[in-house]
Amino acid sequence: MKLDVNALRYMEKDAWRVLTAVEMGMKNHELVPAPLVESIAGLKHGGAYRQVQELLRNKLVHHDSKHYDGYRLTYMGYDFLALKSLLNRGVITGVGRQIGVGKESDIFEVVNEEGETLALKLHRLGRTSFRAVKNKRDYLKHRQNFNWLYLSRLAALKEFAFMRALGENGFPVPGAIEVNRHAVLMTLVKAHPLTQVRELAHPEKVFNQVSDLLVRMAEHGLIHCDLNEFNLMVNDQEEVTMIDFPQMVSCSHPNAEMYYERDQMCLKIFFARKFGLGSTGLVEDASPDESIMKCPSFKDVAIAKQGTLDEALKASGFSKAEEKALEQALEATREGDEEEGEDGQHKRPGSEAVAVVCTFTIDEVESHVACSLSLEQSGLSAEGEEGGAGS
Ligand code: ADP
Ligand code: MG
Repeated sequence: MKLDVNALRYMEKDAWRVLTAVEMGMKNHELVPAPLVESIAGLKHGGAYRQVQELLRNKLVHHDSKHYDGYRLTYMGYDFLALKSLLNRGVITGVGRQIGVGKESDIFEVVNEEGETLALKLHRLGRTSFRAVKNKRDYLKHRQNFNWLYLSRLAALKEFAFMRALGENGFPVPGAIEVNRHAVLMTLVKAHPLTQVRELAHPEKVFNQVSDLLVRMAEHGLIHCDLNEFNLMVNDQEEVTMIDFPQMVSCSHPNAEMYYERDQMCLKIFFARKFGLGSTGLVEDASPDESIMKCPSFKDVAIAKQGTLDEALKASGFSKAEEKALEQALEATREGDEEEGEDGQHKRPGSEAVAVVCTFTIDEVESHVACSLSLEQSGLSAEGEEGGAGS
């Protein structure tokens, strides 16, 4: 998805007011009726109507009249609100190019006042493509029951809390800087996702680092639940950084053991097939050799310190109900993925795009940021605009 920051630069103050009004209305309306937008925005003489037309034209809001007449924010509208917040507070000063397309996120380079390049992850729950979904109708029906903007905000909040807690506990993760709505601001990892790495000088060392992460996290009471080649980044020194945390669960989760074993098995199979680690036969159908890829079982590790890191989520103000809502939405997403992968392989919508957009060198990143749009000069003044998040 393209992030058209030009529209953001030239947006009038009243348009922001109306966009914020739609966001506020969405706290208790799926679609916000026009009179409510008008009354929250408080603009005179049909001012809100004119601004709504402008927002529609820029695809920042969507009009729907199927059940009743009203407006809702689009992901782009939500992006704009998050970006404006970060810009107004001086946390970032410019937005550069897109560097990643995740399963349910877009990642952009951004720059701060010190000229440092950072990464901004915009969560996009519910956008997974339906290309090969067989049971399309049922699946869509199921998905439409979710409020995706709200769930994306929860995903961001959870990801931020875990990223920060993991970092503070010495895990190799991006530095967590800020969270706003569905956007997580973090340090840029100067490495490539393992899925794009063709060769490793020491595959067993990389495997051991990853296996150690899995074990150490369980010792802290946590399971990543998506610890695979898409969420592990490796730099030139073959050091691993772990990313992508919205689906993490506590070791006290009823399915914890299954999740732990699944993460471990996926990693073993990947290292056996791609890097021939611990396998003897054909690489494509190699199965992992347990004697070489030794890993402790769930029962061996998830013991004493349970819950230490899980506290991070509670401390972030995340309620049990919110955690449940997010978990259900992520499960629905995963079901969709599994339906898509006809051969049962771990399929990633958007991963083709990753291959295209992520083949950059560090120098290229820096030059892109140098010529990126500076929003600081765009007239977006630092005035209070917090409308809160979409729920
Ligand atoms: P998703 O939840 O959608 O899978 P990820 O967090 O896994 O999103 O990010 C998707 C891709 O974006 C990654 O595979 C990686 O290429 C890139 N990426 C994510 N975070 C960073 C970061 N901090 N620095 C550099 N690239 C990143
Ligand atoms: Mg990912």
